[in-house]
Amino acid sequence: MKHLPATVEETLIALQTTLKQLEQWGCRGFDPSPESLSILGGWNKTETPPGDKPEALMDNGPEGLDDIRADLGDCQRCALAAGRTQIVYGQGNPKARLVFVGEGPGAEEDRQGFPFVGAAGQLLDKIIAAMKLARDQVYICNVIKCRPPGNRNPEPEEIKACQPFLERQLAAIAPEVICTLGTFASQTLLGTDMPISRLRGRFHKYGNIKVMPTFHPAYLLRNPDQKRAVWEDMKKIMALLRISL
Ligand code: URA
Repeated sequence: MKHLPATVEETLIALQTTLKQLEQWGCRGFDPSPESLSILGGWNKTETPPGDKPEALMDNGPEGLDDIRADLGDCQRCALAAGRTQIVYGQGNPKARLVFVGEGPGAEEDRQGFPFVGAAGQLLDKIIAAMKLARDQVYICNVIKCRPPGNRNPEPEEIKACQPFLERQLAAIAPEVICTLGTFASQTLLGTDMPISRLRGRFHKYGNIKVMPTFHPAYLLRNPDQKRAVWEDMKKIMALLRISL
């Protein structure tokens, strides 16, 4: 019978060995990189004075938007890093009651480093003003933080790499309402492949937060006849936030 690990150190070595072995056998779904294995190896190295909580267990309160931005760093988690000018993280009130989530930066956002500052952004500004809000009262971000080449749609692995950061941003802000702009943001946050035309117009749930999917402002620029539908959606958000018309 095989020797069972008895100490933390032995357990960690056994874990590293097992992960390496599983990787060699072609198993997927975990991170066997040397960096991760070395982090595993360091888990028992922290000298914790008696009575102090290990750092990992310290209650430092919920993470803030700056912590998440710092963790994103000079992100190289997907191929979009190679073509971007800069990361477009998000902008606005860190305690916003309303968050708008778009798809990803376009050329102007990539140049300036802020979300929705191009043509679609100007229309979004008008929508926000019509809701009797200022841009700095809400928070605006995107599903993906780097511009896809030629403004193509984001690939599933790009969304997968970026989604945890969006989710952490939303957890840090904890808004009352999220307005998802267009297909990608709506389908990503709601975990569905239902078309935006069927999702929009009613509240959905993302955890405890209400989500109103609506058409993307870039779509409205091409289909101005749909502005009325978006305004109906915005009125529902205003009612929920008790903003009177
Ligand atoms: N379109 C988006 O989805 N996001 C932006 O930031 C700009 C355009």
